[in-house]
Amino acid sequence: MAILLDGNAMAAELMAGLKQRVTALKCRGISVGLAVILVGDDPASQIYVRSKSKACEKLGIQSETFQLPERTSQTELEALIQSLNQDKHIDGILVQLPLPDHLDEAAALRKISPKKDVDGFHIENAGKLFTGQEGVTACTPKGILYMLKAAGIPLEGKEAVVIGRSNIVGKPTAMLLMKENCTVTICHSHTVDLAAHTCRADILVTAVGKAGFVTADMVKPGAAVIDVGINRIENKVVGDVDFDAVEQVAGYISPVPGGVGKMTISMLMENTVEAAERKAR
Ligand code: NDP
Repeated sequence: MAILLDGNAMAAELMAGLKQRVTALKCRGISVGLAVILVGDDPASQIYVRSKSKACEKLGIQSETFQLPERTSQTELEALIQSLNQDKHIDGILVQLPLPDHLDEAAALRKISPKKDVDGFHIENAGKLFTGQEGVTACTPKGILYMLKAAGIPLEGKEAVVIGRSNIVGKPTAMLLMKENCTVTICHSHTVDLAAHTCRADILVTAVGKAGFVTADMVKPGAAVIDVGINRIENKVVGDVDFDAVEQVAGYISPVPGGVGKMTISMLMENTVEAAERKAR
């Protein structure tokens, strides 16, 4: 039976450390501020934004949510981003994705100052990750690495397979695993014989968005299986992994909920605190 990678416990420990760092900054008269921009009224986005501001509250980070109407224009959105770039009380700016279809997501993200880009989605931060330079790392990939390392899972020389090649999860996760000297394979919807790849994986990360996608016969015995997927089935949230069957085969497994999602929020908080510490220096 696999060891559970408990995102709740790991996040609680991380948050306790971050709270001390926020308090240390406050003692020096420095507040930490996060601005969250939400365009439209997508219910899932509203839930994510609420959980982000709750995490800020726990740490004593000032969070401000800018709820803009669905009809917001690109110019209006970018003007808000520009004004937050100039605001010295704001250390981190986050644009909740996805944006409504009429808005240009990539152009909006490019307007965020790379120093305040706590999601790590700005092309400058993505470029730094891809060229091995110090920058802000995207929260979900950073959280995945944290989980693997916290559990003491060896990475050096291991076979890692990432299913999914998005800019926010798949690609940066693959880069971080490669930085740890894993041999990395990225799979996607055009991959031929997916199971042939996944069955070789010592570390298997799935970021697809399909419930029950990874079955037990796709997993190497003893592998670490990291489930990034978030799928709503009726009133339940599940990952990409057929958890009950895969936990019988895997060595380690992250649950959904209570796994990577928790780490993502903690890493967002860490990136925000780091931005404030950089400013203080
Ligand atoms: P995207 O939709 O951008 O990417 C999904 C990826 O899955 C694509 O690369 C796609 O391939 C691949 N894919 C789809 N079908 C198959 C298939 N049959 N075989 C192999 N690969 C396939 O999603 P995201 O990366 O943004 O998110 C992935 C999941 O993770 C979602 O469920 C999302 O909700 C969740 N998520 C969770 C987070 C957390 O904190 N826990 C944070 C962010 C996302 P192709 O490129 O060829 O289309």
